[in-house]
Amino acid sequence: MTAPSSLPELKASEVSDDTRIGAGFISRVELRFLAVFVPAMFAVLVALTACFEWYVYQNASDALRHRLTAISSNLSIVMAEALAENDHRQTKLLLASVIADEAVSSMRIWGMNGEIVDSFGDFDSEPEEWRATQRVNFVDNSGFRQVGQVDIAFTDRHLIDRAFQRLGFAAISVGIMLLAAVVIVHVSYSRSVGQPISELRRAVRETDGRSRGRVEWRSDDEIGELVTAYNDLQEREENSLRLLQETQRDLERRVSERTRDLEFATGEAILASRAKTEFLAAMSHEFRTPLNAIMGFGDLLAEDGTKMPDKRRQEYVREIVRSGDILLTLVSKLFDFSRLESGTLDVSPAPMDPSVEVQSVLVAERLRAAAQSISIDYQTRLPGGQVILADADRFRQIVANLLANAIKYNRPNGRVFVTLDNPLEGWCRLTVRDTGQGIPPDMRDRIFNPFDRLGREAGAIDGVGVGLTLARRLTESMGGRISFTSTSGEGSTFWIEFPLLGAEKTKSSAA
Ligand code: ADP
Repeated sequence: MTAPSSLPELKASEVSDDTRIGAGFISRVELRFLAVFVPAMFAVLVALTACFEWYVYQNASDALRHRLTAISSNLSIVMAEALAENDHRQTKLLLASVIADEAVSSMRIWGMNGEIVDSFGDFDSEPEEWRATQRVNFVDNSGFRQVGQVDIAFTDRHLIDRAFQRLGFAAISVGIMLLAAVVIVHVSYSRSVGQPISELRRAVRETDGRSRGRVEWRSDDEIGELVTAYNDLQEREENSLRLLQETQRDLERRVSERTRDLEFATGEAILASRAKTEFLAAMSHEFRTPLNAIMGFGDLLAEDGTKMPDKRRQEYVREIVRSGDILLTLVSKLFDFSRLESGTLDVSPAPMDPSVEVQSVLVAERLRAAAQSISIDYQTRLPGGQVILADADRFRQIVANLLANAIKYNRPNGRVFVTLDNPLEGWCRLTVRDTGQGIPPDMRDRIFNPFDRLGREAGAIDGVGVGLTLARRLTESMGGRISFTSTSGEGSTFWIEFPLLGAEKTKSSAA
């Protein structure tokens, strides 16, 4: 199982244009903002200036109308004498002085006979509202009389020109102000928004399955909060990812453990099934051989027992007893093994003298050995009165099994050496050495497996394959240990060891 440890990486090419905020000299967000802000501000400021200029123009034109009225009436006064005396030079001078005013667009001076004395501009083409006509009256000795007329027209063009000039100037000023505003907005935007956003963009692009990018930015505004929230999110993501990876590793470990257990259990089950099949086949052979012998010799005795010679009869009876003995051993071993497996095999340890028990086993086993022309040498180097804590029956059973094997798997005329000593301080050891074929090295680790006879099932030597299993479990259940060495072709040496209780205990327990 592979951990999906890598999250999809955001490649630079996958970063959409919208995420390229802050890229280039001026960012798109900034551009969008300025594209709305600058024209709107420009239009508002220019419109305000235009309104103001309109107001100024209105006032100025009102004042100009008042001036028109005042100038025309003043003119009628100052012109009176010049017109009455037909002093053209004087009227010309007066006209020149009046038209010097930029507000005056045209002027006509009429004489007393209705003729035009002097004029400037085209009076008739001027708008009505800007025209004024004033009679010129003169008072002398002959009385009050009209000596002429003055037409004067004003224009507001200079007011309008000035208003437009100021408006133009205002528009340029507003433009310069807005340009300055754009620069200021750009600088402050880049510092407070553009930079953190491009840091965020870099962190997002650096984020992959292994590491999650962080943004180094501190500010006490919304951008600062956004960056903090982003960093928190990255940390939470990292923790979750770590947890996920740990869980995956744990799961993988568990799955491989379970798989191993399952494989082991399957292997065990296969082995157990094979062992069961082999066991049944071996058992049928092991049971049949002595049973056939009992039945066969029994039949012979039943038919001809009275007629046959005593020697042969005795021989038949011995065979029946021997086969019965084999059957009994077989059945007892099987029962013991099944009780051991179910945990109901009785083991009651008590202080006991091992040399006494070994000798009692030797008495019986020597007969069996003699039947196969095998000699048993016994030696004890254990100081007298030494005791161990063990169940005497089970101890004898273990020793008997080791001796029986040493005899069974020995060569004809072979030898068995039994030694009781304490080579290790505080431990008693019983060694059983034989001169048989030994155990092949590749089979040594199977020797304590139940029902495994190391391929001897087909041979003539009887056995069930549980003797050593029983010996090991019994020894260990009484606090002892069992082991062996073997040399192919030369023989095997099995030994058991039990802690010594010491001579004192014997006395106290005997007492
Ligand atoms: P059994 O003797 O009934 O087959 P054991 O559990 O006592 O069962 O022994 C298991 C196997 O170990 C034997 O079948 C035999 O192949 C091998 N074995 C035991 N003791 C000896 C020995 N002293 N020499 C050679 N092989 C032995």
